[in-house]
Amino acid sequence: MVGYHSPQVPCSVRLNTNESPFAPPAAWQEALADEIASTDFRRYPDRSAVALRTALAAHHGVLPDQVFAANGSNEVLQTICLAYGGAGRTALVFEPTYAMHRQISRTTGAAIADGPRRSDLTIDPAQAVAAINEHRPSIVFLCSPNNPTGLVEGREVIEAVLAAAPGIVVVDEAYGQFADWSALELMDEHSALCVVRTYSKTWAMAGARLGYLLAPAWMNAELDKVVLPYHLDSMKQAAGRLALRYETDMRARVVELVRQRGRILNGLAELPVTVWPSQANFVLFRPDHSSADAVWHELVARDVLIRNCSSWPRLDNCLRVSVGSEPENDAFLAALEAALQSVQSVPSVQAPRETAVAR
Ligand code: PMP
Repeated sequence: MVGYHSPQVPCSVRLNTNESPFAPPAAWQEALADEIASTDFRRYPDRSAVALRTALAAHHGVLPDQVFAANGSNEVLQTICLAYGGAGRTALVFEPTYAMHRQISRTTGAAIADGPRRSDLTIDPAQAVAAINEHRPSIVFLCSPNNPTGLVEGREVIEAVLAAAPGIVVVDEAYGQFADWSALELMDEHSALCVVRTYSKTWAMAGARLGYLLAPAWMNAELDKVVLPYHLDSMKQAAGRLALRYETDMRARVVELVRQRGRILNGLAELPVTVWPSQANFVLFRPDHSSADAVWHELVARDVLIRNCSSWPRLDNCLRVSVGSEPENDAFLAALEAALQSVQSVPSVQAPRETAVAR
């Protein structure tokens, strides 16, 4: 099989992995340093991360037992797959979506079924239900806003999938703070819905590797059976708990990213590209008359790295740019305009193709 591969080319403007262009508050870093200074490192961390989960529960208005935390939302997804997927079971994914849903399902032994999307890359509830009835998946993966399209799944899609699914429904909301609604509204003890969140994007803490699941307590109890003991170290638990004190700063970063996304969309509207309407901190687009591989290559030559999605399912000739700081976005738009001009007249150059992708 082909493993994880995400081209990391040295470039000054890096808009390829949907990280935050802004640092978390200095006050958070100082509070964390103080906490680390008083940590008793002889001892294992709190195995059930009670303080972190209690703080997250208060933040979301749920119960601590409805929170499960892990090393990045990728480990949350893997733990879900270990508990509910595996040999003899099926996971349903709707490509194009976050590639690790498929990848982790596969590495943990499940079969993968592909659900349909309309040509505009939205999900039709009736078609989704038909796919569920056909494949009887143990796990259905949805992603909202969806990476890499930036589209939010409407309440009617989640409700239809939830009503039809014979197993659990996972809604990956890694970019949830950008959306106008959250599937968390539908999460309760009586349904098999769970919602994945991360500190890696809007919380500007990708380096901390911390994510969590909001799920019925009975589902989290199953995850606890398969996750490694003491998987969350003391520093990470403190980092996540302290970060929640700075929610206002996080919200301000989201507002600024939305403003910057608007600037990118305005800039792209002037260029010969087709753009998807994003509700996240990235934008998917397709050059109208040029090869995306060639454009990607030209951008790298201009010191700008974005994501080449042209080999991903249903994303022929597409590119994805993460929203950066104002200077980074300006650099991207200027480089893209120049790249589109220079490739229109020359034959396409092959950029490295991605086969299995994440981030
Ligand atoms: N879900 C989605 C939709 C993502 O885009 C990403 C990262 N690109 C993740 C999960 C994983 O994030 P992390 O493991 O850093 O929490």
